[in-house]
Amino acid sequence: MNEVELLKIKENALKNHIPIIMDDTLEVISEILKKKKPKKILEIGAAVGYSAMCFSEYLEEGGKIDTIEREEERIAEAKENFVKVGVQDKIHLYEGDAVEILPILDDKYDVVFIDAAKGKYPFFLEQALRMLNDKGVIIADNVLYKGYVMSDYNKHKQRTAVRNLREYIARVNEDANLKTEILEVGDGLAVSYKL
Ligand code: SAM
Repeated sequence: MNEVELLKIKENALKNHIPIIMDDTLEVISEILKKKKPKKILEIGAAVGYSAMCFSEYLEEGGKIDTIEREEERIAEAKENFVKVGVQDKIHLYEGDAVEILPILDDKYDVVFIDAAKGKYPFFLEQALRMLNDKGVIIADNVLYKGYVMSDYNKHKQRTAVRNLREYIARVNEDANLKTEILEVGDGLAVSYKL
């Protein structure tokens, strides 16, 4: 993996306000992946591919990442980035809306990383659970959404996102097959281990 290119891609993304994973969140996920050594990871929300490229370092030998992105410009950039960093053989990018793509996937994954439209988290969870291997992990970023999720925040634009993030947290907590931790890193990270 070309670390210099990866750093350039990160800096460029930050400069252009592309929402990539925060450093402290990446650190926590990297620790989980180091222990788990996943063979297959599913990511929902690739943006320009930064997190997927970082995660690819922790795959088991021969492992693969599938990631999904719907914005054309980001798709083109992610594909270029995978080649620049030299990870194009490890990452497959599904192009389009995850709401349409997920139901037609039928693979099994050791880790699912949810990092896309907040209003769709309960749907993403259903799909992740359907494809998760035993002892697998579902990691969802931004679940505390600037603190709105745990406050009595109930305003206009973000209302649907907040309601759906609350539903996501309730579902992972109530699911007897999952053990969930909500971590206050970045914008809030839910880590759910399948028992
Ligand atoms: N995981 C990336 C990283 O850390 O480098 C950042 C992902 S960014 C926070 C979220 C991305 O998800 C955006 O690029 C957005 O276009 C994409 N997205 C949001 N909803 C989506 C959907 N329903 N289907 C596919 N992509 C989606």
